[in-house]
Amino acid sequence: MTTIAKAVAASPIGVHGAARLTARIEVDGHGVHTGAPGRVTLTPGDPGSGRLWRSRGMSVPIDATLVDGAPGQSSLRVGDLALQTVEHVLAAISVLGLRDVVLEGEGEAPILDGTVGAWVERLRPAVVGDDPRPTTTLPRVLRVEAAGGRATVAPAKRRELAVRIDFGEGWSTVAAWGEGDDPTLWLSARTFVRQVDVQAFQAAGRGRGASLENTFVLDPTDPCGQSEAARHKLADLVGDLAVMPPDLAFQAWVVRPSHALNRNLARAIASISPIG
Ligand SMILES: [Zn+2]
Repeated sequence: MTTIAKAVAASPIGVHGAARLTARIEVDGHGVHTGAPGRVTLTPGDPGSGRLWRSRGMSVPIDATLVDGAPGQSSLRVGDLALQTVEHVLAAISVLGLRDVVLEGEGEAPILDGTVGAWVERLRPAVVGDDPRPTTTLPRVLRVEAAGGRATVAPAKRRELAVRIDFGEGWSTVAAWGEGDDPTLWLSARTFVRQVDVQAFQAAGRGRGASLENTFVLDPTDPCGQSEAARHKLADLVGDLAVMPPDLAFQAWVVRPSHALNRNLARAIASISPIG
């Protein structure tokens, strides 16, 4: 059994439950895009304070108005202050059901081993509680298109997410997950790069901190790689949608997901959300 599987088996993870952090957790490492060392700190928030981002004395609620980003990553941004590649730690906060938590840091969040599971492993020992919380659903269906992809969101009793990846190479793969279901498959999915994009990304200065330790090169003929890539896109979607109120339920079906599409989707959902 992998360490991640053990962490999941030790205590069920589900965003149906409202959990809280009991200790300060510091996570160090380098960023996948900048290669720069960075630290993200998570501390318990006051009851009812929600999810906050703190940096240099600033403390703001994490919501859809903060999300920004360059290709290949999502950031929290206020003016010149940014925390880049924040999607994996946000996905961990979301899947663990953390309601009141302070995320502190700037620069680029550590990539660790390229999975959301690595963040869950670090946080899980300090997470307690899994109290059921009622959910509020979206009032209507909405559709969003961006960056060559499209998303449809509909009312639902719980948060259910599905992605289909398709790079126009004659294959496509689906990954799906619902709140309360076992997240192991997407927690363990690594960051990836398509072989055909490697040179262009390097020329653009992206992926300075990428290595085979945290990123796999997607071979389009390998079904296992296709599956892991779809599961990682699902993990990124969980993270990009973690800026939504945790008790907001909806069903999202995203074709050709990207951080740009995911962020537009988050803003669109926020614009019709009945809860803030
Ligand atoms: Zn990712």
